[in-house]
Amino acid sequence: MSSEDDQTQLHIDEIFVETHSPWMYRLAQRLLQDPALAEDAVQDAFIAAHQHSHRFEGRASVRTWLHRITINAALAIQRKRPTRSVDIEDLQPLFDADACRIEEPWGPLPTVDEITQQAELSDLVRRSVAALPESFRICLQLRDFEELSVKEVAAALDISEENVKVRTHRARSALKRLLEPLLRGKPIRETTAAPPPDEAKPTMMRKLKGLMLSNLPYMITCETFETFIDDYLDGELEDRTRRKFEFHIRTCRECREYLAAYERARELGRACADQDMGEVPEDLLTAVVATLQAQQER
Ligand SMILES: [Zn+2]
Repeated sequence: MSSEDDQTQLHIDEIFVETHSPWMYRLAQRLLQDPALAEDAVQDAFIAAHQHSHRFEGRASVRTWLHRITINAALAIQRKRPTRSVDIEDLQPLFDADACRIEEPWGPLPTVDEITQQAELSDLVRRSVAALPESFRICLQLRDFEELSVKEVAAALDISEENVKVRTHRARSALKRLLEPLLRGKPIRETTAAPPPDEAKPTMMRKLKGLMLSNLPYMITCETFETFIDDYLDGELEDRTRRKFEFHIRTCRECREYLAAYERARELGRACADQDMGEVPEDLLTAVVATLQAQQER
């Protein structure tokens, strides 16, 4: 199959469909969280691949090319599906007037296993991801579930890399807020975020902290810390900034606990996305091959 990589025209036959449909089906399922819609997406993707096979010029690998086509097919289906999404703005982290983070104290976080072992909890995690507005959710899914680079996501969605970073961060922040009741071990029924913490009183301590963080060398404010989170987790901060970031983790209780909950929410999203995912249905393969044959005969 790999010899296809350097062909200029793809021949999409039964073996091709059998080879690529399993991962395409998993990809579509992760994006759509619905087996029937995922089947539609795979079928649409093969038809699109067949129709545009002359455009495949062998510059990218077949898999990369198909990956993009499958994502587009899933997105097209997603757009037609009515969804009730949360307001992303309401779920962003909060800071006071002195750029200090407002975050209620956390106890120990549940482990990923503790959550995934309970079907209703993993289902809640999936529904929380699904409740994110599409343009944000898709960035999170492609970055965290498909493990695409910022550059790859930008290419797949045809938006700037900066835009990918902003949307991904907002989606991860919103997911953390949505999962907060679950992470705090509170009883939860629906995908509604915890109410925002009470406006932190501008106590003398907080004022002082704000002053210190914004004025002392080696210190950054909580608000600045926030802008470095994803680059830090991706290991992309340059040394000086990373040291300031890590110093802030050690000295700021709010950001330290926030970061731990943010990371746990991200791990949970990823761990739950793949659960209960069946094999490619046999009749999907038959249907795809039949459709392609009918097109070729036309
Ligand atoms: Zn902080």
